[in-house]
Amino acid sequence: MTAIEAGNSLQPGALRLGIVGVGKIARDQHLPSIAASPDFTLAVAASRHAKVEDCPSFDSIEAMLADGPPIDAVSICTPPGGRDRIARTAIAAGKHVMIEKPPGATVAEVAALVGLAEAAGVTLFASWHSREAAGVDAARNWLAKRIVTGAAINWREDIRVWHPGQDWILASGGFGVFDPGINALSIVTAILPGDLMIDSGTIAVPENRDSPIAASITMRLSNDAPVSLDLDFLQTGPQSWDIDVTTETGSLKLSEGGKRLFIDGVEQSLEAGPGEYPRLYQLFASLVRSGQSDVDLRPLQLVADAFLVSRQQRTTPFTF
Ligand code: NAP
Repeated sequence: MTAIEAGNSLQPGALRLGIVGVGKIARDQHLPSIAASPDFTLAVAASRHAKVEDCPSFDSIEAMLADGPPIDAVSICTPPGGRDRIARTAIAAGKHVMIEKPPGATVAEVAALVGLAEAAGVTLFASWHSREAAGVDAARNWLAKRIVTGAAINWREDIRVWHPGQDWILASGGFGVFDPGINALSIVTAILPGDLMIDSGTIAVPENRDSPIAASITMRLSNDAPVSLDLDFLQTGPQSWDIDVTTETGSLKLSEGGKRLFIDGVEQSLEAGPGEYPRLYQLFASLVRSGQSDVDLRPLQLVADAFLVSRQQRTTPFTF
């Protein structure tokens, strides 16, 4: 009897899941959320080096699909570079697929996955965990009835604290400071009424790296309201993941990455939900059961556009 058969029994109707890429986010969020989910049972893992305790583990998705136990779905938690091959392999094998943010290394590769999933009759869920933060739905509802006059996004965190040793993040295709920054863009594209567009920006890339360590981007809404995006990976001391929005009839602030909401300076009481990642797995299960996909490319498109129009600066070398 395997550990799975002994200790992780399949609940009626639960989807059998394979997880691919066992690193920080898989261990911090995915594995606990899957373990607590009535909708999924972890059946198998694939990672080049890492293994999941008490779970059959393989060193590639190909080996997992060929020699692992049967599964219905795959959750991909690797960095964005190389996700495309993994997602294509899972879809070709008829598996439903959930992808960590950012959904891929380029806009075109993710757009192509949508067609592949549709043709294969499987669900593709490009997840945006920050959209599941406690204050985001309430912020969207409050803003929906108002005219936005401006917004300022400040996302400043210490790469050494939150991404220790993750050299991939500052390599080409790793998104650099846009790796956390895309979380802010996933929130603003969900809460601000109208389309958001990039106008200009400055992107700072360390001399010994290929992706940005800081960025200052100017955007605008379709009603011409200005929106600023300031990203910094070298923030020590207090960290900030804040979005401030002004409207013709009051102001709104989302802080701590969307967890806390202030209207006209007064903190709002929010329903304590299950948490971002449990909500993602609930959503994935309901998409699979209703035969739908959910892929919103707007945050990724905005990052690509920021790279297109921004002036690049070289800054002092960075080491962890
Ligand atoms: P990580 O700690 O580096 O883990 C990713 C794992 O993927 C690695 O441990 C590695 O395990 C595997 N992998 C496969 N191909 C790889 C490659 N080419 N380069 C590096 N690792 C590779 O990264 P993470 O923080 O978990 O981030 C993974 C994804 O989750 C990213 O897209 C990130 O934006 C997202 N995310 C991260 C956080 C966070 O707080 N860290 C929060 C939300 C979302 P093997 O060596 O065993 O293959």
